[in-house]
Amino acid sequence: MKKSHSRRSFFGWTTGLLASQVSPARTIDKAQPPSEPDYYDKLGVTKIINAAGTYTVLTASIMPPSVQAAVDRAAKYPVRLLELQCAVGEYLAKRLNCEAAMVTAGASSALTLGTAACIDLINKLPPQAVPMQISNLKNEVIIQKTHRYGYDHGLEICGVRFVEIETLPEYENAFTSHTVMAHFFNAAEGGQISREDWIRIAHKHGVPCFNDAAADVPPISNLWNYTKMGFDLVTFSGGKGIRGPQNAGLLLGRKDLIAAATQTNNPFDDGIGRGMKVAKEQIVGMVAAVDWLLEQSDDEMQADFQRRAVRIAGHLKDIPTLESKVVVPEVANHVPHLLIRYDQQRVRIAPLDVAEKLRTGNPSIELNPSTGKREGSSGLHSDENTIVVGVWMLQPGEDMIVASRLREILSRSVEG
Ligand SMILES: *Cc1c(COP(=O)(O)O)cnc(C)c1O
Repeated sequence: MKKSHSRRSFFGWTTGLLASQVSPARTIDKAQPPSEPDYYDKLGVTKIINAAGTYTVLTASIMPPSVQAAVDRAAKYPVRLLELQCAVGEYLAKRLNCEAAMVTAGASSALTLGTAACIDLINKLPPQAVPMQISNLKNEVIIQKTHRYGYDHGLEICGVRFVEIETLPEYENAFTSHTVMAHFFNAAEGGQISREDWIRIAHKHGVPCFNDAAADVPPISNLWNYTKMGFDLVTFSGGKGIRGPQNAGLLLGRKDLIAAATQTNNPFDDGIGRGMKVAKEQIVGMVAAVDWLLEQSDDEMQADFQRRAVRIAGHLKDIPTLESKVVVPEVANHVPHLLIRYDQQRVRIAPLDVAEKLRTGNPSIELNPSTGKREGSSGLHSDENTIVVGVWMLQPGEDMIVASRLREILSRSVEG
């Protein structure tokens, strides 16, 4: 079981039901002859079933076969890095209907490079100036208090200072001669100011707006919705719903800003982006992932995830008192998630203990981190008594492995 699961979870995409019934496809053996070591096995690193979602700590997503193949092919030839970056930018801008685009080392580095671009452009600075020379220059970024988040460190490392506001009048009054940017966290759950107002007022003051929409694909159309809406810069994580390489991301937006961001990026030695390199393989993989995604249909993907959730729920239906429902968070991770509850007087195991049993079992399964937590994450409103199964990163057949393991653990805990 362990062995066939391991192979399948890496290459995946066969259509069998249970891992133990699936033999690896022939093309897979060609891609990696059995004589070559599997480094996860060699290093003793556990391969997992991802019933959580696109979480960074769980390596987010698995690239579809066409993307894996593109990465593989790109690895075979040296090219000129600047030429590749430039060609990719033009290609992505066309495909994603925006003025300009670049591939960054994840959405986090897009936040840094985009902010650096705004600082450079407004202060008319050379790309080497960020962060050391800006403390007495224009360096303020306006943000709603409820939009402060861990990732804003990606802006702060440029040396900016946040100006926090809550109401629309406060926003109007926050613009000073030191403002360089207005930042918006697309999936923020609080905040009084709409995207449209955010853009309108910033533009009235001649200040660019950045929207962090890192985890907000699907829907696919979000890849152009926010640039069309008027955001000057928008970022998406490459390794989440787009299913590109985990260390890649997209920075989309205004031509002059992307050009300035490019100047602060590698391969130049002296910009803030020198340490944020995306290798040729992953740059190409990012493009292939965009191409892959643009061929998918939101409806079909959602229906597929819904079927997985229903299949798992169906397998658990005779656990006493168990109830389930399917929930789709509104903005980030906008896909069906399965929520499961039961009476813990009858089924005597807490959701966090179920999660731990799945984690330490074989195969090792990770449930969504909102499981058993009072505060859900990413728009999932959970509680201590709820199990959350993220189905969208499961590979074919894994939904039934998760269902069987859940059934085993829950039915063993039934009182009497
Ligand atoms: C995941 C995430 C990021 C970081 O994305 P990476 O591609 O991992 O750098 C930034 N902002 C938000 C809102 C995210 O969800």
